Amino acid sequence: MIDKFNRKITYARISLTEKCNLKCKYCMPNGFCPINSNELSDEQIKNIVKALLSLRINKIRFTGGEPLMRKNVISLLNDICTFAPIDWAITTNGTTLKHDAIYLKKAGIKHINISLDTLDSKDYKALTGADLQNALEGFYTALDVGFDTIRINFVLIKGISEKQIENLAKLTLKHNVDVRFIELMPIGQCAEYSENHLLKADVVFQILKDLQIDVQDAHAPAKYYKLKGAKGRVGLITPMSCNFCSECNRIRITADGKLKPCLHSDIEINLCDVLHNEDLLKKRIQDAVNIKPERHYLNENMYIKRNMSCIGG
Ligand code: SAM
Ligand code: SF4
Repeated sequence: MIDKFNRKITYARISLTEKCNLKCKYCMPNGFCPINSNELSDEQIKNIVKALLSLRINKIRFTGGEPLMRKNVISLLNDICTFAPIDWAITTNGTTLKHDAIYLKKAGIKHINISLDTLDSKDYKALTGADLQNALEGFYTALDVGFDTIRINFVLIKGISEKQIENLAKLTLKHNVDVRFIELMPIGQCAEYSENHLLKADVVFQILKDLQIDVQDAHAPAKYYKLKGAKGRVGLITPMSCNFCSECNRIRITADGKLKPCLHSDIEINLCDVLHNEDLLKKRIQDAVNIKPERHYLNENMYIKRNMSCIGG
């Protein structure tokens, strides 16, 4: 699909649930997000995936909430990943990967992003309400199981991240993983937290002085660098200090069946009434792509209402 700004849309992110076992301060307002009861059924998700595949989407990432909190998620992924040999991916907080990683790999998931904002257990607890140990064990299990790509997503938070940037980046020396530093985005009810804790990605260059520019991935929002002698890469995702909308190749589907053509726009197209009819569903998806906004307006303080935990990043 090509949108009206000539961007080729090849990547979809599907939120499998709004439920989450963590309460990250920048994502879940006051540790609580009322759960929308209209979660798509397995059959409805499969219909969406089939329509996306026939519209030549070649990468699908499952997200949430926490996608691994969805009931029978492994069985759903076992079915879906047989539909086509594309880049199947998941973004998870990693806390259940100790058990789930092997089943995700067997299901056909190739790429896994694990969110980890600190290696300090006190800070992790304060930020997420959970124990760091589970996330760490999940990360190391994912390494043992071996996915095509393993990335760590690290959200930059003023007052918390500065002392952790080096620790996380050093993981790339030992392991073939990408550690991506992401600027905090003001979204939904957490917008004020993000504004108050915004830390521009420049800080990464101030702390990691010998970063060398690396080969770039087409359409990836991240710019990649390497530490000297490293196996993995350091990525910077800078929605606040640098707008990458002209390269955007993605759409998002929420857990309640709305298509978001842009993360930072309140435009949402309901898919629920056409899920039973593949032609109508494909047409609705195409129509949504046609109204994908040209760019976001975060720097003009225009933030969306929906919370991040209800979209999936
Ligand atoms: N629960 C899963 C996880 O944490 O990886 C998947 C959903 S989470 C919403 C997806 C990604 O969005 C995570 O990497 C998280 O750090 C990131 N995220 C959440 N709120 C954010 C915000 N306000 N700004 C930037 N990234 C955010
Ligand atoms: Fe849950 Fe992920 Fe949001 Fe944290 S970032 S609250 S783990 S959805």
